[in-house]
Order: sequence, then structure tokens, then C-alpha cells
Amino acid sequence: MAPQYDAVVVGAGFGGMGAGIELDRLGLSNYVILDRESDLGGTWHVNHYPGLAVDIASVTYSYSFEPNPYWTRLFAPGAELKKYAGHIADKYGLRRRMRFGTVVDGARWDEEHQHWVVSVAGGETLTGRYLLTATGFLSQPYTPPFPGIDSFAGKIIHTTAWEDDFDLTGRKAAIIGTGATAVQLVPEVAKQAQALTVFQRTPIWVVPKIDTAIPKPVQKLFDRVPATQKAARLFNTSLLEALMVVGVLHYTQAKPLNKAASLLAKAHLRTSVRDKETRKQLTPHYDFGCKRPTFSNTYFRSFNQPHVRLETNSIDHIEADGIVTADGHKTEIDTLILATGFNLWDVNFPAIEIIGRDGVNLGKFWRDNRFQAYEGITVPKFPNFLSLNSPYSYSGLSYFTTIEAQMKHMGRLFTELFRRGEHTFEVTEEANAGFLDRVTGKLGTSVFYGGDCSTARSYYFNPHGEAALLRPTSTLNAHREAVSFPLDDYVYGKSA
Ligand code: NAP
Repeated sequence: MAPQYDAVVVGAGFGGMGAGIELDRLGLSNYVILDRESDLGGTWHVNHYPGLAVDIASVTYSYSFEPNPYWTRLFAPGAELKKYAGHIADKYGLRRRMRFGTVVDGARWDEEHQHWVVSVAGGETLTGRYLLTATGFLSQPYTPPFPGIDSFAGKIIHTTAWEDDFDLTGRKAAIIGTGATAVQLVPEVAKQAQALTVFQRTPIWVVPKIDTAIPKPVQKLFDRVPATQKAARLFNTSLLEALMVVGVLHYTQAKPLNKAASLLAKAHLRTSVRDKETRKQLTPHYDFGCKRPTFSNTYFRSFNQPHVRLETNSIDHIEADGIVTADGHKTEIDTLILATGFNLWDVNFPAIEIIGRDGVNLGKFWRDNRFQAYEGITVPKFPNFLSLNSPYSYSGLSYFTTIEAQMKHMGRLFTELFRRGEHTFEVTEEANAGFLDRVTGKLGTSVFYGGDCSTARSYYFNPHGEAALLRPTSTLNAHREAVSFPLDDYVYGKSA
């Protein structure tokens, strides 16, 4: 029985769209992209809170094969990313493959028919020879179970469910959380609200954001002479690569560079915040890079405003009209903004139930045997499955470098599969174990194990204390391996 589709892709963000483009290049054009949301763009569709912008320069945060000369700023606002996603979908004919409002419950490998059976909420099933999940790392919003939160009588908004017409004027607002989202949101809410209290559990490193509008003549130059934008991309990518590889991955050998970054952030804090006590509270006590650092020129300065207050006592409970901290103090509010991030490790790896060969459950396998994936993309006992958001897959910094390395991996793998005239692939246990040994070995010199991350509460670490999110190699290495991995790291077979 032939499957309905060559491939089923889950997720219509940049990862799923990259996978679709690569499937077309490989001639596997009969595919469907499923997404639970109402439109494409993934994180850039879901997130539209005030202040949203990229914090990796846009020349780098985009597909290298589809540059956009018309970014209006060095760090484009979120709406431009959403528009860019729409452009990609149109140009590469992806829209007609997409089905929105489609919640995938799970997928099961059908050994008899050698294909995947994908279950969709409502009872429908789809079959595909190949399954690709591009469900993102930060796609399962997290609301902490604060006691009493259900009794809150005011407005509650998670940043992933922002209501664009919600007017904060005259509101007494609280923002819980001080991650990258809050760093962008706090200055914007401060502009409107009558009072704003920011509840911080762990301070975050913030460095200045060297942002500027890209003048029209430069945009035109990028359009007419694409090599100029390519050069800008190369410069920026190399800089980011050096910071990541030297400052984070080779922390033990290059401590001074890491320390320089924290000194820059401290100087930024000193020159931005007037009150000494507030400065002290905003100063992290873990090494730079343990947790994703942020970029902002306005976050720190928000705390100089008389109507903005930083609260560092832990939250005890929430009442109908306020938040009570452990010291017994109640902050009266009518608007509660949850910038509390995402649940990565409990519900994201994987984001849907995936049952492979011999009934192996991927989530259970990862939890029982450590989080792992060969080259951050395939797992033994899961034939014809590419997990694009896997442990050790994300090269850090621009997510597009990861997406494009994975597209290259797909290209090499499927080309070999077709050359052999086969239809199934599965990574070997040995290749997978070898990759896991190598990446965990490399982490030894990183800031995650060599530095002091004990107070960071970083989502880079899983509940077992392993820094299993980032691939601890350069992006150059990831791209090189994607086009040169040993072909016999996979076994290939015929379909039923
Ligand atoms: P996040 O970094 O996970 O931050 C969540 C915040 O909520 C943290 O400050 C956390 O405190 C706090 N929190 C969680 N549970 C809490 C509790 N029970 N009590 C008090 N505080 C609690 O989430 P995010 O800010 O949404 O950012 C997630 C990621 O999205 C970023 O790291 C970045 O990769 C990405 N992002 C990117 C951009 C961009 O590129 N422009 C913008 C926004 C986000 P603790 O630190 O103490 O856990």
C-alpha cells in the first residue's frame, strides 16, 4: 500500500519551510506541511508582542540562498520576519502544501508498510514515506503554576498570545520574567502603563544593541549588487561564530574573551541605571553565555523611570488584585504579563508522540537513555524520520545556519538513498553513539561545564544537568559534516 505522501512535515516555520524547499530539490514533491497555527511563520507568527525584533543581524538571520535586501533595520522588527516567511512560502510554492489549524497528535512507524502514520486531532490519519518534524525549540509556552493565579481578576496575557489591540494606558501592570522576551517588552510596556513592576527571579546579561536603520540607498545597493550583502553577511556571521566558538565553546582556553563580554554588560548596566541597589539586583552571578545573553539599549534604562520597579523577592502567590511576594508585600496590579518563556525539556523533545520501530517511544528513549540524535537530526530505531529540532542540533546564534546544515544533510542522505534505489534509511547505533561521545566530550571545555552556571537556571541544560541543546561545534563544522558524513552511518533498505 503506497503512502499518501512522499513526506509529512510538521511545522510551517522557517525549519519546516527549509525542509519543504529541500524536498522539492530532491524531487520529493508530494509532501504536506502541517501546522497547528492559523498561518505560517512559526515563532514569527505566534510572537507579535510590542518590541519584538530579531537580535541576530538580519543579513545573517535569513536563508543564505534567499537574501532580503530590504530589511529596514540592522535588526529587523518581528513583522518583517513574518513578511519574509510569507515571501519564501510564495516564491517556493510552499503555501499550497500547507494545512493550518491542524494539530498533530502523534506519528507511528508502520513496519509492515514501511511508512509513517500521522494522527491528527479529530481522528484523521495521514501516511507519508518520510516524516520530518520542525516543531521548534521554543514552541510550547510555559505558565508557571503560581498558587492563586486562577483567582486573578484582571487581565492575564502570555507573551505568545499578545492581543495587538490591548491598550495598556493607565494600567497597573506586572511582567513576570526577565528573559530575551521581557528585555524587548519591558521598555514598550513602560511607555504605556501607569505603573509597571518587573518580577525577576534570575538577572540576565544584557549587552548594547548596535542597531540602526538601513538607509534606502544601502538597501538598493544590496538589491543591485548582491555581493555587497553577501559580504555583510560573511562579516557578521564570522563575528558571531568567533564569539560563540571562542567565548562559549572554548571558554576554558579563552576566559578573557568571555570575561570581556561580562565586563561590557556590567559597564552597560553602570552607565544605564542610576540606582546602585537596582544595579546590584540586575547583575547576574553566573558566567556570560551560560544562559542566552540579550541585546538592548533600553531595557536597563527603563528602571530609571519612577513608575517602573524591579521586584526580586520570589513570588509566593497571586490574589485577585495583586502579586504577593515571599516577604509578604503585595503589589497591586490589574494586568499580569507572563514573559515566562517555554517548556523545552518536558514537552518539546519531541513535541508530539513519536513511536518508531519495535514500538520505541522517542520521548521515553531520550529520557531513559540521555537526549541524543546523530548530527542532531536522526535517531536509531526511527527509520525515515528527520527530527529537525533535536538535542545537539542547534548551532547557536542564527537558527538559519542550523536549518541550512540540516537541508544539506537531507540532500546527501536522500541522494545516496536514491542512488542505491532504496526507500528506507536508519542511522546505525554505532554512528549515533560516536556522535554523542564526540559532542559530550567537546562540552568539557565550554562555559556550560568549565564555567560557573550554577545560578543561571538556563534552558540550555536539561533536567539531568546536561547541556544537551546546543551543538558544541562551529557552524562551519556542522556544514562540513552535513556534506561529508560517512554514508554507511546509515543502513538503507527497500520499502514494503
Ligand atoms: P526565557 O528566556 O525562558 O525566560 C523566561 C523568564 O521567566 C525567565 O526570566 C524565568 O526566570 C522566568 N520565570 C519562569 N518561571 C518562573 C517562575 N516560576 N517564577 C518567576 N520567574 C519565572 O523565555 P523568553 O524570554 O521568552 O525567551 C526564550 C528564548 O526565545 C530566548 O532565550 C531566545 O532564544 C528567544 N527569543 C529571541 C528573541 C529574539 O531573537 N529577538 C526575542 C525573544 C525571545 P529564571 O531565569 O529564573 O528561570
